[in-house]
Amino acid sequence: MPAYQRILLKLSGEALMGDDAFGINRATIVRIVDEIAEVTRLGVQVAIVIGGGNIFRGVAGGSVGMDRATADYMGMLATVMNSLALADTMNKAGLVARVMSAIGIEQVVEPYVRPKALQYLEEGKVVVFAAGTGNPFFTTDTAAALRGAEIGAEMVLKATKVDGVYTADPNKDPAATRYTTISFDEAMARNLQVMDATAFALCRDQKLPVKVFSIFKPGALRNVVMGADEGTLVHV
Ligand code: UDP
Repeated sequence: MPAYQRILLKLSGEALMGDDAFGINRATIVRIVDEIAEVTRLGVQVAIVIGGGNIFRGVAGGSVGMDRATADYMGMLATVMNSLALADTMNKAGLVARVMSAIGIEQVVEPYVRPKALQYLEEGKVVVFAAGTGNPFFTTDTAAALRGAEIGAEMVLKATKVDGVYTADPNKDPAATRYTTISFDEAMARNLQVMDATAFALCRDQKLPVKVFSIFKPGALRNVVMGADEGTLVHV
């Protein structure tokens, strides 16, 4: 029996790159979709927020010298592309996926309408929330916190390259150890990077737990929804 009935999975754009320098790596997206399919088969309702950093990021790279809000809209459009790729891959794998966008782009994907999203989830469809929050100066981490709270997800699953929150950067400090659980307050006091400050504050205020885990570790997503000791649970 899964430990959770409804989750919000946050994937960074980089998660789709695999070993490539940018863009979407086919084998990687197929593998991630396999992991998602496995948890839906357990009966877990899955909503997804995907980033856009593999294509465009508003605060770096191609955006240098650009108006920040314009660059951020480009970043949001990048998340729409990733959402379409992810939903297409899920549909081909036998899942039923729906993309809902926070910005009006109706010829491409339907707009985000909360009751409709809830209906899709009840029907067992995987809902991908595209275009972040729809506002510049925010991130897809914040979109994950926001949508997670809106749909009543029991947990936000933040998929990263590292399998949890560590006492120090495990790539630099071999003595670093992983927290199994940590409170929002302690994570903040220790200045540990979980999510950006806006997303972090929203999850803490809404008492929405965040699980940080590695999407590159086979079976980790399943372990998380089964309630196993996987990654780090950040709780109130
Ligand atoms: N973005 C935004 N508002 C949002 C979500 C995203 O303006 O609500 C823009 C922002 O420019 C960001 C880019 O979209 O840099 C891609 O999102 P993010 O950096 O969160 O992607 P990730 O790092 O998860 O791939």
